[in-house]
Amino acid sequence: MREQYADIIVDISHEKLDKSFQYRVPPHLRDRLEPGMCVQIPFGNGNRLIKGYVLAVGDECKFDPARTKELLGIAEKDADATGRMVALAAWIRQNYGSTMIQALKTVLPAKKTVKKQEKRFVEVRMNREELRSLLGESLRKKQPAKARLLTALLEQWEETAGAIPYQWITGKLNVAAGTVNSLEKAGAIRVVTTEQFRNPVRFSEEAARERRRLSPDQQHIVDAVLGDFDEGNPGTYLIHGITGSGKTEVYMELVEGVLKRGKQAIVLIPEIALTYQTLLRFYRRFGDRVSILNSTLSPGEKYDQCERAKRGEIDVIIGPRSALFTPFPNIGLIVMDEEHEGSYKSESTPKYHARETAMEVARLHGASVVLGSATPSLESYYRAKRGEYKLFTLRERLTGGSLPAVYTVDLREELKSGNRSIFSVKLQELLADRLGRGQQSMLFLNRRGYAGFVSCRACGEVMKCPHCDVSLAEHRDGRLVCHYCGYSQPKPKLCPKCGSRYILGFRAGTQQIEEKLRELFPGVRTLRMDGDTTKTKDSYEKILSAFANEEADVLIGTQMIVKGHDFPKVTLVGILAADLSLSAADYRAGERTFQLLTQAVGRAGRGAAAGEAVIQTYQPEHYAVTRAAKQDYEGFYQEEVLYRELGGYPPAAHMLAVQIFAAEEPAGAELAGKLADAVRGEGAAVLGPAAASIGKINDIYRFVFYVKHEDYGQLVRVKDQLEELLLRWQLGNGQVQFDFDPMHCL
Ligand code: ADP
Ligand code: ZN
Ligand code: ZN
Repeated sequence: MREQYADIIVDISHEKLDKSFQYRVPPHLRDRLEPGMCVQIPFGNGNRLIKGYVLAVGDECKFDPARTKELLGIAEKDADATGRMVALAAWIRQNYGSTMIQALKTVLPAKKTVKKQEKRFVEVRMNREELRSLLGESLRKKQPAKARLLTALLEQWEETAGAIPYQWITGKLNVAAGTVNSLEKAGAIRVVTTEQFRNPVRFSEEAARERRRLSPDQQHIVDAVLGDFDEGNPGTYLIHGITGSGKTEVYMELVEGVLKRGKQAIVLIPEIALTYQTLLRFYRRFGDRVSILNSTLSPGEKYDQCERAKRGEIDVIIGPRSALFTPFPNIGLIVMDEEHEGSYKSESTPKYHARETAMEVARLHGASVVLGSATPSLESYYRAKRGEYKLFTLRERLTGGSLPAVYTVDLREELKSGNRSIFSVKLQELLADRLGRGQQSMLFLNRRGYAGFVSCRACGEVMKCPHCDVSLAEHRDGRLVCHYCGYSQPKPKLCPKCGSRYILGFRAGTQQIEEKLRELFPGVRTLRMDGDTTKTKDSYEKILSAFANEEADVLIGTQMIVKGHDFPKVTLVGILAADLSLSAADYRAGERTFQLLTQAVGRAGRGAAAGEAVIQTYQPEHYAVTRAAKQDYEGFYQEEVLYRELGGYPPAAHMLAVQIFAAEEPAGAELAGKLADAVRGEGAAVLGPAAASIGKINDIYRFVFYVKHEDYGQLVRVKDQLEELLLRWQLGNGQVQFDFDPMHCL
């Protein structure tokens, strides 16, 4: 009989031990151990009996078989939630590079003793007819906030049993306390304070029965996924379907399927796409069995949700990346909507990607993973094409509305014909047309802020932050500001290098577009959404609901405006500089541009009226632009994957970025050189080292080198080897960071 060996990490209380140990599996436990199981092991010289968790089981002995100890037995029968979390942390540590402690902090909810908090609710005191007549009155009197609250109360009549959390009203619904008070005075509602935790929405049998009949294509997906699951063969699935093609409906049916089988489900949605409407759809279907995790929850509330999940009070969690670590006992399904979104990758160590991590969570639980997107990531589509994931396509938009007509404008030609405005002639015409007809438009700019960098037109000198090596941005008050460290200085009157007076801002920010638009169309009502106007917690929702309420004709914004929000009245989308994101110096620039343009174009014509879109660009012939104009994902994929294969970029190969941080420039350069040489000695392809694209932040110098290999496992070994070197040189782990398949150039 073959021997079996188990990798075991000792109980968390022994924090200092940052590695796993291998033990021999005794004969009576062969084929019975699973990752996450809690076992008893003899430990250390005295063979003290302690608990540990199984990370993996295999038949390869990594050390001397004669000196490998045998584990004693299973300490707790079931692989409990904590055990699986430990196994997951170990996997994250191994595959993304971090200490075990950092990995554990990532997956385990921060332990907090939370004081029971009071919850406030609004209870309805009127019947439906009375509410409706109040609604009519507030609409006549042009009181949008009041109307919003009354509409929500009416819409949720059945599900809420007349109790809506106060926090939702002032938060998501963006209704001021004063408005709530005035409705209370009018006798429509009452504000109630309770001590117990109550759920936002109560379950209603009737609402559940309201669900839609799936189309044959939708039903096919549900049958395939649940069929595999029932055969004990859960897999990974990719649903490629444009917005409105019925993906969310499929997710909900699948969630219901796994709940019926006694399991739990995690639904990941990027925070920016997690709208009130989406949440409501899930609440309507699953009532108080569903909860949400997002950044508006306090740490205490987040901890509460984890506790409820552990205790089995909820079965469905909706949230961004970190919701993946909800400690459900028995997960059956993980859904990842908008799977191409960059926010699924963690930006701090461990720099894990939620997609691959979801697959590991699914492996630990025997769950299915369903990915969905209108513009799948190259990674996922590539794997689907190779049969690693099952691919489904939903082609029809169920909400009606047709794809918009798209005009691509060559900005070089515009200039030649004498148009120096930031709006092309075509866009000006169409804007005028929409304003005349009272329809809404969106203008999308691919970058943040009012002004870009400031440079000298005579000598080319660019004003930079003395601490961060990035160009300073000109703000309205005339100061130059660093977006990384906050350093600011007045704008110089003369070029510090050559003394010329021609020192100018590169003005193509959203604020300037707003100003130019007002010059062109006096009286136009505008709203602006960018990093500057959405600094506070609820400003984002405020702008969106104002635009939805038609309080403006034109919404101007950065990428935030193209994601996830439906404005049926928008019939025109203008993309002002399509290629600003193309010039970013990293291999994902084409993919990002295609995704953004496709999403932006798709914003037009969601409602009854047909839509049009104008793409202004300096590179009208670039395939990311031409394919996005035609909403042709497959065509884009074919060209892009060729480029990735030629360049040896993900998904055709893998890339490990090693970042080095140092307070002294020469020391950093030296360490980077030594580490890169060590890797090179092993025959791997190494690029660099070089100063990072931002060479200095807060007076810390940054260097980076990249290692490429077709096999991810090889890169993990490179990481292990570097970690060992750092340990031997006794360097703190803050000095080097690993980033596998990075999302941006570093
Ligand atoms: P996606 O998630 O792909 O954007 P949704 O699931 O939100 O698509 O569906 C878009 C719209 O179509 C929603 O209003 C939804 O209620 C509706 N819808 C989805 N599936 C069906 C169906 N089978 N029959 C009727 N309407 C549907
Ligand atoms: Zn100059
Ligand atoms: Zn700075």
